[in-house]
Amino acid sequence: MSEEHLPIQLRTEALEQLLVEAGLVDPTVMDKFISTYANDVGPLNGAKVVAKAWTDPAYKERLLAEGTSAIAELGFKGPQGEHIVVLENTDDVHNVVVCTLCSCYPWPVLGLPPSWYKDPAYRSRVVREPRAVLHEMGLDLAADVDVKVWDSSSEVRFFVLPQRPAGTESLSEEELSGLVTRDAMVGVALVGAP
Ligand code: FE
Repeated sequence: MSEEHLPIQLRTEALEQLLVEAGLVDPTVMDKFISTYANDVGPLNGAKVVAKAWTDPAYKERLLAEGTSAIAELGFKGPQGEHIVVLENTDDVHNVVVCTLCSCYPWPVLGLPPSWYKDPAYRSRVVREPRAVLHEMGLDLAADVDVKVWDSSSEVRFFVLPQRPAGTESLSEEELSGLVTRDAMVGVALVGAP
């Protein structure tokens, strides 16, 4: 294997080490940045999109028709988000997202993918036995729900619009967004009532 064909992770780690050794990068700051982007900033964006769709029917229509531009209306765009397709969960259909090839993921709305999303076991099994995988992740769907698994590609990133939980009629858009989790927007969880 020639050096230019080393896996991206190894090359990235080597690059990070060089930057740290040269004093150009503080590894704790870098870890903090990655953690923030992975856990906070990203999914919060997606949660705002979901809450707006729940409270604004015209926006929801635009979101389902043309995800990328509707998401950009809220200011969320950029790398790994050039073509986002939004999938609506209903009483009859439950959508789950995977990237069987690698870890394609809609960064502008969800941030960086969690480790389980990149796990070869999730990537191969969720296609073959989605209900078993969802059960292991704590989600049991009714038998009559149609489970659809969507495989991301280099062109398309998928984003799940979860169902609004019952009993949330009086909540504001901001309160609603606080209920929406990253996992619900990948389709491996539901949004729970407050
Ligand atoms: Fe991928």
